[in-house]
Amino acid sequence: MLRIVMKFGGTSMAGIERIRHVANLVKREAERGNQVAVVVSAMAGETDRLVQLCREAASLYDPREYDVVVASGEQVTSGLLAITLQGMGLNARSYMGWQLPIRTTAAHASALIDGIDVDVLERVFGESGIAVIPGFQGVAADGSVATLGRGGSDTSAVALAAAMKADRCDIYTDVDGVYTTDPRIVPRARKLSAITYEEMLELASVGAKVLQTRSVGLAMRYNMPIQVLSSFEDRPGTMVVGDDRIEDYKMERQLITGIAYDKNEARITLTGVPDRPGSVAAIFAPLAEANVNVDMIVQSVPRAGERSDLTFTVPTASLAHSKALLEGVREEVGFQEILTDTDVVKVSAVGVGMRSNAGIAAQMFKALAGRGINIIAITTSEIKVSVLIPEEYTELAVRVLHTTYGLDAEAAE
Ligand code: ADP
Ligand code: ASP
Ligand code: MG
Repeated sequence: MLRIVMKFGGTSMAGIERIRHVANLVKREAERGNQVAVVVSAMAGETDRLVQLCREAASLYDPREYDVVVASGEQVTSGLLAITLQGMGLNARSYMGWQLPIRTTAAHASALIDGIDVDVLERVFGESGIAVIPGFQGVAADGSVATLGRGGSDTSAVALAAAMKADRCDIYTDVDGVYTTDPRIVPRARKLSAITYEEMLELASVGAKVLQTRSVGLAMRYNMPIQVLSSFEDRPGTMVVGDDRIEDYKMERQLITGIAYDKNEARITLTGVPDRPGSVAAIFAPLAEANVNVDMIVQSVPRAGERSDLTFTVPTASLAHSKALLEGVREEVGFQEILTDTDVVKVSAVGVGMRSNAGIAAQMFKALAGRGINIIAITTSEIKVSVLIPEEYTELAVRVLHTTYGLDAEAAE
């Protein structure tokens, strides 16, 4: 007997037909004698619709009430799945975040999970029952509903798996695993039989949204194996596991594991920044205070006594706020203009092979230059190289890099 969390994403839950199909997958797992907790997302598109309604109601809305609205999508799907499972003769029941409870911080719209009580679940398993739990939501200390940030059902699932000491957390989605890049933009992307937590964490954080980044961080902390697989096709998916277990999957290790892209970054350039100690600190201080996540930073080196330009990126959603904050320090710092650009994309290559191999970044720059793609900014970490380029080149850049690093699947016969 295994203990398993099965999580189903929005596409898998979109409509009664699909929910019935999901119920069959749950039934099959339960009939194998396994203890099953199911975590569900809202129907595809539903959370976007609810977010839009909040925006229409007021441009500056209360995040606490936003959570009341957006958490409802998962309430609907968990109830519908429980009804469907019951209709198939299974002992299933839904438990909202506040019922378990899934305790979170009070940071509405981006709450963190503080802990999950498993007493209710243990009782359900003791009665050979199936628990259906809405993803994305929990309850703050004051009793209000709190949500975990977009894509948060993955994190709910992994946190629940860790709390109930599950053997595995299965994430069912609309692709049949983790690929070397987004298979929707590169048809020759290759499915990985396994990937390490570390690489998946890095890929997710630079845009591979197949798993929410936080869910991978949690899985790594608790050493919880994740399997990413399709709810539509019955075939093995991708295992996300620790470095020590990766060899079990007989992976042919590549230098680079995958390529990801992120269009949610905006570029800010400050021109004429005075060349004196403290300029840069004074520019970034208000952004840090406002929790704006500054990512890539490039500064031109001025000649003695002259001014320089400073370029950096912030999440597109923080651009307007960042601009206002920078206007506030313009006089104090003495820079000239604030230029912004949202038509940019960050493209990244990730792989642990970078640790032991020089020249990976150079290969990237050469491949992009060969296609006439201009690089605006660069950042690197131990296992990642990222470049900021004009957004119009997204697909071309991802494809070229995929080929350059030898990741293309064999062409279909
Ligand atoms: P769900 O609704 O099931 O949570 P998501 O839309 O959040 O599904 O995540 C699945 C999507 O992630 C896929 O449809 C695919 O387009 C995208 N994706 C991006 N990068 C990758 C990758 N490297 N491998 C697989 N899918 C990826
Ligand atoms: N429904 C939420 C969203 O769309 C959470 C999730 O599906 O993971 O962001
Ligand atoms: Mg998702």
